[in-house]
Amino acid sequence: MDLYKSNTIKVYNSLSKSKEGFKSINEGMIGMYVCGPTVYSNVHLGNVRTFMSFDMIYRYFLHLGYKVRYVRNITDAGHLENDADEGEDRIAKKARIEQLEPMEIVQRYTVDFHNTLNTFNFLPPSIEPTATGHIVEQIEIIKDILEKGMAYERNGSIYFDVLKYNETEHYGILSGRNIEDSIHNTRVLDGQSEKKNPQDFALWKKADERHIMRWPSPWSDGFPGWHLECSAMSTKYLGDNFDIHGGGMDLKFPHHECEIAQSKVNNNVNPVNYWLHTNMLTLNGQKMAKSTGNYILPNDFFTGENEHLSKAYLPSVVRFFMLQANYKSILDFSDAALLASEKGFYKLMEAVNNLDKIVVSKTSSIDVISWKKKCYEAMNDDFNTPILIANLFEGAKFINLLKEEKQTISKDYLEVLRSTINNFVFDVLGLKNTTESTIGEDKLSGVVEMLIGMRKDARDNKNWSLSDQIRDELLALGIQLKDGKDGTTFSVN
Ligand SMILES: [Zn+2]
Repeated sequence: MDLYKSNTIKVYNSLSKSKEGFKSINEGMIGMYVCGPTVYSNVHLGNVRTFMSFDMIYRYFLHLGYKVRYVRNITDAGHLENDADEGEDRIAKKARIEQLEPMEIVQRYTVDFHNTLNTFNFLPPSIEPTATGHIVEQIEIIKDILEKGMAYERNGSIYFDVLKYNETEHYGILSGRNIEDSIHNTRVLDGQSEKKNPQDFALWKKADERHIMRWPSPWSDGFPGWHLECSAMSTKYLGDNFDIHGGGMDLKFPHHECEIAQSKVNNNVNPVNYWLHTNMLTLNGQKMAKSTGNYILPNDFFTGENEHLSKAYLPSVVRFFMLQANYKSILDFSDAALLASEKGFYKLMEAVNNLDKIVVSKTSSIDVISWKKKCYEAMNDDFNTPILIANLFEGAKFINLLKEEKQTISKDYLEVLRSTINNFVFDVLGLKNTTESTIGEDKLSGVVEMLIGMRKDARDNKNWSLSDQIRDELLALGIQLKDGKDGTTFSVN
């Protein structure tokens, strides 16, 4: 039987502001859309946390046997410097500063994004569409919204008429913002803006001459508004009404609020059943900001080269640390907290590797079945990874007691213990099995490979004495080099 049939998940829905029992539109299938990065700089840690939370959620759905279509977009056009539809396109600006083509910027930072996520062992989404690949779809939606009278044209740009929409619908349904209050509190337009009301947002912007990222449309040569791409791509791949939409909580307003309004007008149905939002992170209790130096880039963890870190950390340790907090809580990074997590991570991995050393008995003295149930209950309660991890440590304690033969376990129960630990540690949390001793081996082979490379250089330069010295000194340490036709290999004696 598929596990999802016996596991009812409760999710915190930002739309209803409450925990609800999750039921997918089509049985056994889930459509999930997550707002991806705007690729104009290296991916920052807050983004990694958001995508890691949804990676964990995706992994749990897959574990339960759901067929999941997971769409996470790449924003490669249309994201302006501020939310008021003003300023330069972020990608075009970076391209201008670095004297590159915008698509070179897009390529560079898309590669960086994928590399960083691969290092953290993320599963790739099912579809990763780009905004520039869906200009036609976006223009079609604008035409439809114009036809329905919910948008207007000003000098070649098209704006969504928020006040008109709010007459029959609720603009603010997700963010809880009250449009009347915001009208009251905003300054009167200075006559510079083309918008009827400051609350309106751009669906299409006419490009000025220096704007190089532009496409033809019925209204002007220009580019789509940022919010529109997500409406276009989510409904194209997941349908007019789909199960889950996720993102960082900073996207709730205006981005997600605008998505709801556009899609609602376009398809006449609420686009999303469950809205999930991840919380932000801090460093040493303070907001992360490049300007104050209170800042860590994801790759800094692996080199340890950052004033806030005392050493380098494995990607799995950072991943473990992040998942020790609930995705809806603020996560505070500090070196001390990472060191504590690292200790816990190795303890857990050691227990996982001790599973093979357990001798089975005829009877069991530990209750593996109710322990397994608690692991599922934690995940079913809005993906509560900190509680799951606490339960996995309880499992680790069982393993160690069994290894020392202070408790007993039957063959069947050992299989339950083993499969539950493996499923949650590797498939759901996405950790990689590393122990302190295998790290030593990895490092050793890295150093030996480096020396093999140096010896090859020496031989190419006919520096026989250096080449022999490297070989002999390694041999004295018990490492034997063997030269073959495919290069040099080594063995440790
Ligand atoms: Zn989005």
